[in-house]
Amino acid sequence: MKLHLYNTLTRSKELFTPQNPPAVKLYTCGPTVYNYMHIGNLRTYIFEDILKRGLSYLGYEVKHIMNITDVGHLTLENEDSGEDKMEKGSRREGKTVWEVAEFYTQAFTRDMEALNIIRADEWTKATDYIAEQIKLVRTLEQKGFTYRISDGIYFDTGKDPHYGKMARLDKAGLEAGARVEINPEKRNITDFALWKFSTPNEKRQMEWPSPWGAGFPGWHIECSAMAMAKLGDTLDIHCGGVDHIPVHHTNEIAQSENATGKPFSRWWMHGEFLNIITDKGAEEKMSKSKDNFLTLELLKNKGFEPLAYRFMTLGAHYRSKMQFSWTSLEASQTAYKKLKHALSGIDSIGNIEALKSNEYHQKFLSAIEDDLNMPQVLALVWDTLKSDLSKPDQKALILEWDKVMGLGLDQKQEKTEVPQEIMDLAAKRAEARANKNWKQSDSLRDQILAKGYKIEDMGKGYRIEKV
Ligand code: AMP
Ligand code: ZN
Repeated sequence: MKLHLYNTLTRSKELFTPQNPPAVKLYTCGPTVYNYMHIGNLRTYIFEDILKRGLSYLGYEVKHIMNITDVGHLTLENEDSGEDKMEKGSRREGKTVWEVAEFYTQAFTRDMEALNIIRADEWTKATDYIAEQIKLVRTLEQKGFTYRISDGIYFDTGKDPHYGKMARLDKAGLEAGARVEINPEKRNITDFALWKFSTPNEKRQMEWPSPWGAGFPGWHIECSAMAMAKLGDTLDIHCGGVDHIPVHHTNEIAQSENATGKPFSRWWMHGEFLNIITDKGAEEKMSKSKDNFLTLELLKNKGFEPLAYRFMTLGAHYRSKMQFSWTSLEASQTAYKKLKHALSGIDSIGNIEALKSNEYHQKFLSAIEDDLNMPQVLALVWDTLKSDLSKPDQKALILEWDKVMGLGLDQKQEKTEVPQEIMDLAAKRAEARANKNWKQSDSLRDQILAKGYKIEDMGKGYRIEKV
């Protein structure tokens, strides 16, 4: 079997054939840096990392661009209205937009590193590509796809007979079902802003001169302009979360394909949501606008390892919804630690080259090639540990597969820095045990636990772990 990837364009798994193998041009929509990422956003970035690692493992040479949106993403993004999220962040924090962008870009970088996500070849900032965005709008204007209304330059979706093909949008239905027209100056409900004008009564921190007057780019044009500037007119794969299918990616396709006359991306791949259960028991998408979001920092503060969260996300296929719960995160952390423990207990490692024809390795390849089936890979890991392969061979295989899983399994177990106070209590407990003073030894164990450490007795010795 060869690599098959699900393509949202055709709603089917297709044999993957990049334009110029082994090169693969990959573009993934990145964060808007006005707030922390939530673990739902991070689930999408982990899926994209698995895709990239899978491609590299199978011998492709991936060039990956991800954008950093630092201007133009409006709070009412589907209606081209509301406030710029960056300016909103700036007011909330009493910092300049540039400071806000810098702060949250750094937070994003830390999350990506903690989750073992391989950096894109470049993280392109929208504010560094204003000239390219203006040029693209100019091209669309020259080709007759734009019109001007009081608040900006808009794309006329009525001029594009293919508009909404990937999302399979029912344009007539959308028009008929439209509530109050949000902007009565728009020709079609699906039209969207390419360039927004600064309003005279609002002093924006970020604005640029343009052939149409001072203003700022629309959110969708950023991705088209940066993707094409860095990777050329046609990408091999473009990714994002499923929420991007009906609007953001639909608009990226309309702008790019009408500007160049070429397909914008051959594959479109979308990660499903991480959902959360509300107090009333309903399931809803984790979202920044709903304030129901959890950050990686919060997970860390509660004692979870970021890679345990990565491990958890691999338990569901990227095209399936995943429900977050603390219980399942706890179970994932336990399983993740068990796996690391099992591997660190094996002293030597088998020869991976000799194992490549082994049926377990073949099963691994089949799972990856079948649209990145990571739940199957995880099941295979446990099967391998239970198999009659020698321990060193088991370790060699699992560490090899970790090139795709990215769980940091080859890292040495980091030594916990145990404070002196805890070591003293542990020594006292060992003494109590030696004297068979079980009451005292139990009470000391509880004291140690209350301070956040756990004692594991091992033969004559013991090990102290942070809980
Ligand atoms: P945003 O900053 O809202 O543009 O989101 C960044 C990325 O995360 C996009 O690719 C979104 O589609 C994706 N995303 C947003 N919410 C979720 C969620 N609850 N679960 C998974 N991915 C999400
Ligand atoms: Zn995008």
